[in-house]
Amino acid sequence: MTPVVVVVGGGASGTLAAVHLLHTARTRRLPLHVVLIDRYARHGLGQAYSTTDPEHLLNAPAAKMSALDHDPADFVRWARVTGCEFLPRRTYGHYLRDVLERAQDDERTVQKVTGNVAAVSRRPAQVRLADGRAFDADAIVLATGNAAPGLRLPEKRCTNDPWAAGALNEVGRGDVLVVGTGLTMVDMAVTLTRTPGRTVYAVSRHGLLPRVHADDPVSPRQVTLPEGPLTLRVLFRAVREAASDGDWRGVVDGLRPRVPELWSRLPLREQRRFLALAARHWEIHRHRIPPATAAKIERLEATGRLKVLSGCVDAVTPGPEGVLVHLKDRDLPVSWVVNATGPASVCARDPLLVRLMGDGLVRADRLGLGVEADERGRVVDATGRADDRLVTLGPVLRGSRYETTAIPEIRGQAAVLAPHVIDEISGRLVR
Ligand SMILES: Cc1cc2nc3c(=O)[nH]c(=O)nc-3n(C[C@H](O)[C@H](O)[C@H](O)COP(=O)(O)OP(=O)(O)OC[C@H]3O[C@@H](n4cnc5c(N)ncnc54)[C@H](O)[C@@H]3O)c2cc1C
Repeated sequence: MTPVVVVVGGGASGTLAAVHLLHTARTRRLPLHVVLIDRYARHGLGQAYSTTDPEHLLNAPAAKMSALDHDPADFVRWARVTGCEFLPRRTYGHYLRDVLERAQDDERTVQKVTGNVAAVSRRPAQVRLADGRAFDADAIVLATGNAAPGLRLPEKRCTNDPWAAGALNEVGRGDVLVVGTGLTMVDMAVTLTRTPGRTVYAVSRHGLLPRVHADDPVSPRQVTLPEGPLTLRVLFRAVREAASDGDWRGVVDGLRPRVPELWSRLPLREQRRFLALAARHWEIHRHRIPPATAAKIERLEATGRLKVLSGCVDAVTPGPEGVLVHLKDRDLPVSWVVNATGPASVCARDPLLVRLMGDGLVRADRLGLGVEADERGRVVDATGRADDRLVTLGPVLRGSRYETTAIPEIRGQAAVLAPHVIDEISGRLVR
């Protein structure tokens, strides 16, 4: 019988896991069947790459976006670009679907299933859907992505998931408030200001917007740090020194691949301090927007079509004509509110992970942001044991790796877990 890997979540993480598993299986001459399950039929796209707006661009140049760890130029070749371009995210979605297709021996190698996974068991390994369907597996990959935002707005005249298919179609005319001032807000502002006469307000506690990429490629720079446990004070001093000549982009890009290792060297209380005091500053420097998008945002601000506010939303009161948003120092009447705040902890908001935690199959990381896994991606259960049949990757590892949401990190994780999963399956076949 052909071994089966069931992947829960069809976004970039699930797709990259499937592709790297199939690649490794082929090099080991192991036939493999992959079942890729996504509740919204967004196989190969997920949340980030299902947008159809051509002005929603990748926030990294094409050269950094290969899906294949063993072939860093794959995306550049596929898109026939030089590598410096910031392409539309929908183009990247087409690419991910193509990568998945190329990884298959024939059209039956990957079975795409649409459904909501409600439960997972380990012995025997099985994935069960809410509609009663069940899939036996030799290994299971949890690739469920980000949870919904922690902030819940009322249903009426508010969009809680701006990345759901057609989510913005329901926004009528009139002014809109976007809660959050990160990358999602930028995309929302670009789309929503196409309606003539509309003002888009954006609010967050700090009112900080993502910084812009340099026009020319930046060389990553090394920051010298001591060995052993770190403190934020030592880390920040070293970063400030390294960036004192103004090349902060080079410093951030040099630090980024080291983040999981540096993060693990920060004691828990320092990790908590970082989240409370510095995370937003890191995010705006680390997740930069393309120059073309930055120019658009600047124009919108200069013409008063986009107004960025700093403050907290105390309450949102929908009425028949619009929504009254109560901010600390004023009430803002708008016709619609869009929730673009960051994802909540998956431990609190993802029903499947909450259930798996209750069943003892999974345990939360020390910060309670995501789940715990070892360096091979094997999920750690309630007793502290890493399981060979249950692996994970992507945003759910945020608490233990911190930088774990972008394509370079996800493809690296997929490349690490794939050989272990395939060897484990092959070993069991021989035994
Ligand atoms: C707007 C946006 C823009 C981004 N731009 C870039 C970029 O330019 N460059 C870059 O490197 N990174 C970018 N990222 C980051 C990164 O690529 C994404 O976070 C990444 O795609 C995460 O993929 P994922 O598969 O883990 O999660 P998701 O995309 O959230 O996919 C998870 C999938 O699993 C499904 N699922 C979850 N639970 C279940 C269940 N119980 N049963 C069935 N299905 C389930 C969900 O429906 C979803 O489709 C961006 C992210 C966002 C949100």
